[in-house]
Amino acid sequence: MTVTQVDLSSLYDSNIYFIDGGRKTLLVDTGTGFNPEPSLNSIRKLLNNRRLDYLVLTHRHFDHVGGMARIIKEFSPGRILMGEGDAEPIREGDSEATMGTAFGGRIERTDVEGLKEGDVLDLGDWTLTVIETPGHTAGSICLYDAERKALFTGDLLFMNGVGNTTDPTGDAGELKASLRKLSGYDIIGLYPGHGPYLAKGGYEQLRGAMRMMGA
Ligand SMILES: [Zn+2]
Repeated sequence: MTVTQVDLSSLYDSNIYFIDGGRKTLLVDTGTGFNPEPSLNSIRKLLNNRRLDYLVLTHRHFDHVGGMARIIKEFSPGRILMGEGDAEPIREGDSEATMGTAFGGRIERTDVEGLKEGDVLDLGDWTLTVIETPGHTAGSICLYDAERKALFTGDLLFMNGVGNTTDPTGDAGELKASLRKLSGYDIIGLYPGHGPYLAKGGYEQLRGAMRMMGA
């Protein structure tokens, strides 16, 4: 097992996934950072004295990025990355646009690198390709490993559901188009931003979501 779900501590936390790629390590999302010790301890154990090479944020929302400041302080990730379309409010420390204020938290200015369609993160045994999937937010991304056919979806696609489009940059038409785009990929494992993940059956979940949305 080279992908592990990090312990969470708040009801509002996004899932946090740790990928041990053999040569490099990567963390997907950070939770809210409210009461962060359980997550930090879990990440420390998983790293086992190695460095955290990549921190990737699936999108701008506070429940996914709020824990970033503590994780950066503790583990000094080599690169901090997210979809370019969602990067600006993080660079500016904009607690409104990231929903920090709505969650009762705040975001610090953070220098994140922008990712775009087709960018590749090579971890050794895992090779993650960036797929731009707007709809839940303008800069939402998925990460896909072609060898395992594993997909990390953030808040685009969950088990038995899809993300909302209530963000000012959200758009239902774009969300449907993103689902259709993903249907061109062979998907087995599905690792969403909330709720359970599936080692198998990812493609069926996608087809179900497309039917539900009329995509
Ligand atoms: Zn979200």
